[in-house]
Amino acid sequence: MSKLSRRSFLLNTGAATAAWALPSFMLAGNSKISNDKKLNVALVGLGRYAGILTEGLQQSQYCNLAGIVTGHPAKADTWKKQYNIPDKNIYNYENFDSIKSNPDIDLVYVVLPNSMHAAFTIRAAKAGKHVICEKPMATSVADCEAMIKACKDANVQLAIGYRLHYEPYNLEIKRLGQEKVFGQVRLIESSLGYKTGDPSEWRLHKALSGGGPLMNVGIYCLQSSRYVTGEEPVSVTAQFGPNTNAALFKEVEASIFWQLIFPGGAVSNSSSTYNCGVDRFFASAEEGQFELSPGISYGPFQGKTSNGELHFPDINQQAAQMDGIGKLILEDKPLPSHITGEEGLKDMKIITAIYEAARTGRKISLV
Ligand code: NDP
Repeated sequence: MSKLSRRSFLLNTGAATAAWALPSFMLAGNSKISNDKKLNVALVGLGRYAGILTEGLQQSQYCNLAGIVTGHPAKADTWKKQYNIPDKNIYNYENFDSIKSNPDIDLVYVVLPNSMHAAFTIRAAKAGKHVICEKPMATSVADCEAMIKACKDANVQLAIGYRLHYEPYNLEIKRLGQEKVFGQVRLIESSLGYKTGDPSEWRLHKALSGGGPLMNVGIYCLQSSRYVTGEEPVSVTAQFGPNTNAALFKEVEASIFWQLIFPGGAVSNSSSTYNCGVDRFFASAEEGQFELSPGISYGPFQGKTSNGELHFPDINQQAAQMDGIGKLILEDKPLPSHITGEEGLKDMKIITAIYEAARTGRKISLV
């Protein structure tokens, strides 16, 4: 068995965890969910990505869209009719905590602006529901830590919506890097960006977003450099790009560039921007190269290595993510570490260091 697949096997079966360390949700008789049903999911915040997740939920084998939480009664009405959601499973932001007494919701999926993730994850945990929280996990390290603690205290699982861990092209670059198929990776270049233009968009307001393109899309570049090397970076340098539109970029960066050094000798050079479209990953190792372009958004993706083109199915990433998470929760098994709150916390620590490096011009140590 390969190093990577053996590791995934151990994590998925829980065999890597000593019996005395088993979390209580894995102990026999503790399951709150019967085996013959789908995991009932309530989406919090009915915006653009909730719509995309709903398409995935409709294709999911293990999960079901059972409830909604919204600040807009008109949206509640539309969704209720469109997806056949009973009134008892519809909440607003004020009465959300009463979801605690609703046995027909198993998991709450937080799809709100970034700065609202912590409060709603903590409220969902206190209501005894498992949680998936969208990326970025939160807008501060302290919030990430509070979310992890709340879920631990409530004995519920916490996942971050890292959909690329279920996407075949990205699983392949992870394998190529971690198994050193082309030798030690030395150089990674990854970029994700798009052109933004609506000044009312919450992503341009720091109180809601926590930051600019780094928080929103750069996090994928950071993730890919970590899962392709399989290592944690030891230091970071970073630079802000020019402010190309002072009316739009009053509170968050227009673009940012950063460089991470990894202990095995790899360097990753990444960028994220609100100025133009870009979606690519490239890695050069001692004996060959591999790349995806596009490879980070929703696909269809294209990829190649020094040995030729990559061909994998073009999947619905959200359905794959919901199935991966739903199946494990239904079976009372722990989620793999690369999608948990601890993983979101690691990213948030590095993002905080990237901003500090860009602001100060200094190299920031991560060890
Ligand atoms: P949208 O702006 O489209 O939707 C956000 C929703 O949050 C709104 O529709 C609204 O729902 C609710 N909301 C509550 N308070 C506010 C507020 N003050 N301002 C704006 N919205 C509010 O955002 P997205 O759906 O694009 O993003 C939501 C989250 O999902 C973000 O964290 C983002 O990073 C993440 N995301 C992840 C993606 C991925 O590929 N994994 C892709 C896109 C986004 P309502 O009207 O029902 O109250």
